Amino acid sequence: MGEKKCPHCGEWSSWNQNLIDTCDHCGKTLGGVDLEYQERREAQKQANKEQWIFYIKETDSEFVKTVKKVGNFFYTVYISIITFIAWLIAALPG
Ligand SMILES: [Zn+2]
Repeated sequence: MGEKKCPHCGEWSSWNQNLIDTCDHCGKTLGGVDLEYQERREAQKQANKEQWIFYIKETDSEFVKTVKKVGNFFYTVYISIITFIAWLIAALPG
C-alpha cells in the first residue's frame, strides 16, 4: 500500500502499485501515461502477432487451424535449417 500523485487531478491517492488502481478523488486510473504506454505496447504486440500469417484465430475453422499449425511447423523447420546452414558456414574453416 502506497501513495501516488494522481496524473488527472494532482491529488495524492492511496494505491497498490497497480497501474489500473483508481484515484480516491476523481476516480480515474492512477497509471496515467504509464498505463497508456503499457496498453499501447500490448496492443502493438497483439497486432504483430495477428499479422503473422499462421496466427491461429478463435474464429478460424478446424481446417484453417490445422493448416496454420502445419505451416507453423514447416516454418520452424525451415528456420532451423537456415540457422544450421548459417552455423555450418561460420564453422567451416577458411
Ligand atoms: Zn485524481
